Amino acid sequence: MNILIAASECVPFAKTGGLADVTGALPKALKELKHDVRVIMPRYKKIDAKKFNLKVIARNIPVSFGNKVELATVMEGKINSKSSIPVYFVDNEKYYNRDELYRTSLGDYSDNGERFIFFSRAVLEVAKAINFKPDVIHCNDWQTGLIPAYLKTLYKLDPFFLRTAVLYTIHNIAYQGVFPRDIFYLAGFDWEDFIPQRLEYYGQINFMKAGLVYAEGLNTVSKTYSRQIQTSEEFGRGMEGVLVQRKKDLYGIINGLDYSIWNPKQDQNIIVQYSLDDLEGKTTCKKDLQKISGLPIAPDIPLIGLVARLDAQKGLDILHEAIGRMMRMKLQLIILGTGDPVYMELFERIGKKYPRQISVNLKFDNALAHKIYAGSDMFLIPSHFEPCGLGQLISFVYGTIPVVHKTGGLSDTVDSFNVRTGKGRGFLFNEYNAKSLFESIKKAVKIYKIKKKWNRLIKNGMESDFSWEKAAKSYVRLYKKAQQEKIKETEQ
Ligand code: ADP
Repeated sequence: MNILIAASECVPFAKTGGLADVTGALPKALKELKHDVRVIMPRYKKIDAKKFNLKVIARNIPVSFGNKVELATVMEGKINSKSSIPVYFVDNEKYYNRDELYRTSLGDYSDNGERFIFFSRAVLEVAKAINFKPDVIHCNDWQTGLIPAYLKTLYKLDPFFLRTAVLYTIHNIAYQGVFPRDIFYLAGFDWEDFIPQRLEYYGQINFMKAGLVYAEGLNTVSKTYSRQIQTSEEFGRGMEGVLVQRKKDLYGIINGLDYSIWNPKQDQNIIVQYSLDDLEGKTTCKKDLQKISGLPIAPDIPLIGLVARLDAQKGLDILHEAIGRMMRMKLQLIILGTGDPVYMELFERIGKKYPRQISVNLKFDNALAHKIYAGSDMFLIPSHFEPCGLGQLISFVYGTIPVVHKTGGLSDTVDSFNVRTGKGRGFLFNEYNAKSLFESIKKAVKIYKIKKKWNRLIKNGMESDFSWEKAAKSYVRLYKKAQQEKIKETEQ
C-alpha cells in the first residue's frame, strides 16, 4: 500500500511526547512489511537541515485556504540513516520558524489554528505536487484532524484522491484543537458544515472532532482507552457522543516500542550497557544516575524515576499529596519533566525541600531520560488517564519496575506482580488518590528488599516483547478496512 503518515512530530526530528515515538517507529515496521510508507510533518526551526541532510525537493507550492494563499517549500530527509523511508518537511518561515512546536511558557501560539490549517492543506497539496498518491493517509491527533474533512468536502471531487482513505489515530483526546468560528471561515469550509453533526462544537470549530466525524477509520492507542473515551465526559472530553456513534469503526492498538532506540544492550546514552544475563551494568547505571543528579550514592536505597510532560493528566497532584509520606520512607526520587508552570514551580519547591531524596530536572532531556530508565529501580506513572503510555514499556526493557495507576494503556500492559506465583511485571493501584499511590509504592519497596523476588520481576519485564511488528500488522488491517469504506462511498 501507499501510506502517508501525517503528524506534527516525529522522532528523531521533533518530539514533545509519545506521538513522536509512534510516528518515528511505526513507519519502519510498515516498511518491513513491504509497504511504501512516507511521513509528512512541519519543518520547525529546531530541525537542523544539515544534521539530517535535508534536501529541498519542491519550492513555493501554493497552499490556499480562506482568502489566503501561502507558500510551502518541501524538504526531504530519511527517517534514519539505515532506512529509505522519506520524511517530507513542510517549510514555511511564518508558521514554523519558531523555537517551539506549539507553545511558549506563556501559553499556546495564538495562531495554532492557522498553522495547522496550513499544514493540513499542505499535506494534500504536497502529495499532489510530488505525485505520491496515498491509498491511506494516516492522520494523528488534532493537528491533522482537518485532513479527512478536506478530503470529504473541498477535495471530494479531486480525482487524485478518489481512492485515498483516512485512518485517524487519537493519541490523546484531551487536546482537541478548538478554535473560534473565524478559524472555521479561514479553513475555507462551507457554512453548511458548521453544524454539530460535523465541524461545529459549541459555536467553535474542533479539529479533532473533524477527524472523528470524517475519517473512514478510527483508532486509539489501547483497547481500554478506546472504551473509556466512549463512556464518560471525564475521559471522552465531550467527544464521547461522536465516538459512540462511530463505535463500529473505532479500534484500540497498543503502541510498540522501537528497540533500536530503547535497548540497554546498545544504548549510548547510558554509562554502561547491560542485558538480562549481565545486570551488573544496571547497578553501575544507578550509581551514575545518583551521582549526576546529586543524590547520595546508595545502592540499596530504592530509586524511583519519573519522566513525563508536567501536565495535570500525569497524576502530579496525587504525587504531590503523597510526597510527605514517601519521604518518610528510605527512598529516592528523580523527576524529569517540563510543561505547566504551576507544576514546574511546585516540583522545584519540593526538590529544594528534600535535596537528599529528590532530584528535580525541569527540562526536556532525551539523554537524561535514557539514564533514568536505566538507573532507576522503579518507574512511576500515576497518570489520571493514559491513552497508552510508553514509560512502562521502556521501563520493562531496562529492568525497571513500573508502579502505575490502573487506567488506559497502563492497565493493558502492566500486570500486577503475584508474590506467590512469581508472575506479573509491575504494581498497579486502582483508586486515583494519594493513599493508593502510596500503598503501591510501599508494596513495591517491600518486595524490592527481597532480592530473589525483585530479580524475578526484572526478568519478567525484560523478557516481554512489545515490538512494533504486531502493531504494524494491526494498522495495516485498519488501513485496508478504511480503504474498503472509501471505495464503497465512492461507488455509491
Ligand atoms: P505523552 O505522549 O502523554 O507525553 P507517553 O508516555 O506516551 O506520554 O510518551 C512520553 C515520551 O516522551 C516518552 O518517550 C518519554 O520518555 C518522553 N519524555 C517526556 N518528557 C520528557 C522529558 N522532559 N525529557 C525527555 N523525554 C521526555
